[in-house]
Amino acid sequence: MEKILYKSNKGKYNFAMAFPAIESFALSSLGYMWLYKIADTMEGVNAERISTDNLYISSSKIDSIAFSMSFDFDFLGVFEILERLKIPFYKNDRDTTCPLVFAGGPVITTNPAPYEAFFDFMIIGDGEGCFTKVLEILRDNSRQDVLEILKGVDGVYFPGEHVKKATVNLNEVIYTPILSDKSYFKNTFVIELARGCMNRCAFCTASYTNLPFRYNEYEKIIQTIELGLQYTDKIALLGAQISAHPRFNDIMEYLRKKMENGVHIELGISSLRTDSVTPDMVKTLVMGGQKHSTIAIEAASERSRRFVNKNLKEEQILNAVKIARENGLKGLKIYSMIGIPYETQEDIEEFLHLGNKIKSENKGFGIEFSFSSFVPKPQTPFQWSQREDTKSLEKKQKYLEREFAKLGIAAKFSSIKWDFWQSVLSRADRSFAPFLVEVYKNGGKLGSFKAAQKSLKPDIKCSFGMEEDLPWDMIENYPPKNLLINEYNRLCKFL
Ligand code: SF4
Repeated sequence: MEKILYKSNKGKYNFAMAFPAIESFALSSLGYMWLYKIADTMEGVNAERISTDNLYISSSKIDSIAFSMSFDFDFLGVFEILERLKIPFYKNDRDTTCPLVFAGGPVITTNPAPYEAFFDFMIIGDGEGCFTKVLEILRDNSRQDVLEILKGVDGVYFPGEHVKKATVNLNEVIYTPILSDKSYFKNTFVIELARGCMNRCAFCTASYTNLPFRYNEYEKIIQTIELGLQYTDKIALLGAQISAHPRFNDIMEYLRKKMENGVHIELGISSLRTDSVTPDMVKTLVMGGQKHSTIAIEAASERSRRFVNKNLKEEQILNAVKIARENGLKGLKIYSMIGIPYETQEDIEEFLHLGNKIKSENKGFGIEFSFSSFVPKPQTPFQWSQREDTKSLEKKQKYLEREFAKLGIAAKFSSIKWDFWQSVLSRADRSFAPFLVEVYKNGGKLGSFKAAQKSLKPDIKCSFGMEEDLPWDMIENYPPKNLLINEYNRLCKFL
């Protein structure tokens, strides 16, 4: 069952908004769904939603398809959809009977280079403003003229050209425009409170590709909460750093008062900011039915946290756990990475020391450590950094697995091998196009990456020199490269 919270339009221009994974994830992706709403409400446009498990298209032909790419492995879903729609992967193999194919989203915004051969153009930066202009141009112009006209739009990238990242002011609050019981977050009304994060952890694209930190006005957020409550009792607040919203406590208080007055709300917040967890915040979450939450500590020791610009003290972590326990949460997930540059065995030992301390101070409270391995990302001060060798990371992982088990603390780990390929793809250049196709054709599993590596020998770079040209240098972002170098050098002083 779907509840559409707006009035859709129909028209002659047939546009498909494609999500490179299954429909339940598409329905829970706020950015994707909001762009779909923009298309679906645009005059003269007939918008379709497609995903890897739902390719139903009501019109006989599609004029253009847009893909939203959030994860480095989304290319597999892109190829799957193109193949099933019988559209050639490479843009040079497509003729004018094929739809125009374009893409945007976090993966494209950080590094579009490996995807240049597949898309007619790409959108770099915030979707809303740029996407609206693009769709209007596509609707109003002939196929022959359209690409030339799009060249003048800020945020639209054509290979070989320079592009300025599109950045919008948050003038309207983005929320889930279609509620569905098929969504991964069933019937949940998600509201964007803020975009980006001013913390600037040195590995974080959510912060560095979304600067400056922007937030929606309190009054507009409250109006949007009220709108959502007309349709559902499940409300989720979204943003990389929502508690940095200057009126976050007021928003929580508003929700708490509503619940105290008998309004049933199931409240969701993806993670808590460790240094700003308060008793009232936790009480509100618990009142809203949340039993567990997550805090991110990012790195093992205070030394390596200072190096990644996380600046979180052990005392603050212990305090956050204590507040969570004392105010009614049943457990906390503690997220971190291993393999941060210059990590030492002493840093790794710090995890165990911290786990032990948390356990002894919070008896009966459900603690779970969750680890992934460091993936150096474009557009951040760590974009040049070395990714640690897979064998050495697996050794660290096994050690932590064993030692956490001895302590009786739950610990989960991402796959080091998948993280390796993620690090390769995120910093790949345009020569990787055939490699991506080969991986897909071989089935897209880990073995397919190995097989494609063997047959095509792509130029895998595990680090970059600061003087080197980078595959994503064509993007004009803020802060520019020289400021990223200054920041990296500043952080190195903490080692
Ligand atoms: S606090 Fe989280 S969202 Fe903000 S910069 Fe650090 S890792 Fe990114």
